[in-house]
Amino acid sequence: MPKIKPPVRPGQKITLTISGQSHTGDGVGKYKGFTIFVPMAVAGEQVEAKVTQVKKTYAHARLKQLVEVSPERVDVPCPVFQRCGGCQIQHISYSAQLESKRQQVMDAFARIGGLDHVKVHPVLGMKDPWNYRNKAQVPFGGSNGQIQAGFYAVGSHEIVEFDHCMIQQPENDRVLQQVKELVNELAIPPYDEKQHRGVLRHVMVRTGVHTGEMMVVLVTKGPHLPQKKRLVKEMRERVSGLVSLIQNIQPKRTNVVLGKENRILWGEPVIHDKIGHVLFSISPHSFFQINPEQTEVLYDQVRKMANLTGEETVIDAYCGIGTIGLYLAKDAARVLGVESISQAVEDARNNARLNGIKNSFFEAGLAETVMSRWAGEGVQPDVIIVDPPRKGCATQLLDAVVKMAPQRLVYVSCNPATLARDAAYLKERDYEIRNVQPVDMFPHTSHVECCALVERK
Ligand code: SAH
Repeated sequence: MPKIKPPVRPGQKITLTISGQSHTGDGVGKYKGFTIFVPMAVAGEQVEAKVTQVKKTYAHARLKQLVEVSPERVDVPCPVFQRCGGCQIQHISYSAQLESKRQQVMDAFARIGGLDHVKVHPVLGMKDPWNYRNKAQVPFGGSNGQIQAGFYAVGSHEIVEFDHCMIQQPENDRVLQQVKELVNELAIPPYDEKQHRGVLRHVMVRTGVHTGEMMVVLVTKGPHLPQKKRLVKEMRERVSGLVSLIQNIQPKRTNVVLGKENRILWGEPVIHDKIGHVLFSISPHSFFQINPEQTEVLYDQVRKMANLTGEETVIDAYCGIGTIGLYLAKDAARVLGVESISQAVEDARNNARLNGIKNSFFEAGLAETVMSRWAGEGVQPDVIIVDPPRKGCATQLLDAVVKMAPQRLVYVSCNPATLARDAAYLKERDYEIRNVQPVDMFPHTSHVECCALVERK
């Protein structure tokens, strides 16, 4: 990219047209050919903005005035939208959110040489894009006997209170309020982060949306939980659907919410939820998809792309608790899963057992290492599915894919940029990306998820 000297300086007022949204949801436009990010600006708008920060190849600016307003700009329904930071694009109509996510995927392919022809389908969104999250996690704090529960304000650890999150399952909100009331009544001391004193640090609530089962996790600084007996009794009476009440102990000074140790205060160690026909058990530490409704939509796309007949050997790489592999197991001869977190692999095996699935095998390890070994041992999968974290697949893994030479690769991606990079690498090695189907897993946030079909030429 040719370098140009930044035509702006901090404090300068500029007028520019916004051409799209960035991967963090900011408006993006050019000023004298130089890229400017303007938070809260919407594609198509003309804005006046004040430059706040100048870097070598781009600058940030604060929105001052809307000169021309996009018809896609909507009134934000959530009262804490900008302070919370959980959502980034509530101010954009849902249909425009979906279009902008599709555009981001197309842009990623356009930037990578030779892939601008790739067909990107319209994003599969939700009919009702609210109340979708099945997990809530809120910090507790406060002083002088007044307990606060809410979220950390953007970029700080100041707790902002709220009683309703628009993207959360209403059940989770209700239970959080009940826990807060109870904690106040019983005067259970909240944790004081600065002093590293007190008791209650976080409360996590998880709902199995298909089973109605609910888990409440009280994260405490130490093992001591005052009023434990009353707390358990009251929680059982007040919280309908409660199946699992857990104390988790996090003694460290850290931002990591959960500590290692779980103690069952009452009920079961896990709750259950379903994705399609498969039942999953979920423990406090389990990774489980946040939006179960859209997860099914995504996995159905994966199934379509995998195009299984029942004869195939399928590899599920970066398998987590085995969700994709177990979802497809009945359509395949066998499924081999690999995942780096050994607890997740245990969960995957348990989930297979829970569903009577006998043709799945899970191995703990780095996907790139394990798959290289499988390639060396002559494992011959017909279909490989990968679902890597944001940084995409390791080159070693892509080389193992090429060596095993499956007919199809289904690539599930939460980052279009690394998807495009990996697709370009595979294109040089006889694999052609056919089409990309984005699925909106996180409405009102800037996250973009898609799956792509890559076939051997
Ligand atoms: N497919 C699962 C999980 C996807 S999240 C689902 O749909 O629910 C990505 C997973 O990759 C995480 O579980 C993470 O622990 C795992 N992971 C990250 N790097 C890895 C690596 N190098 N090898 C294997 N697994 C890895």
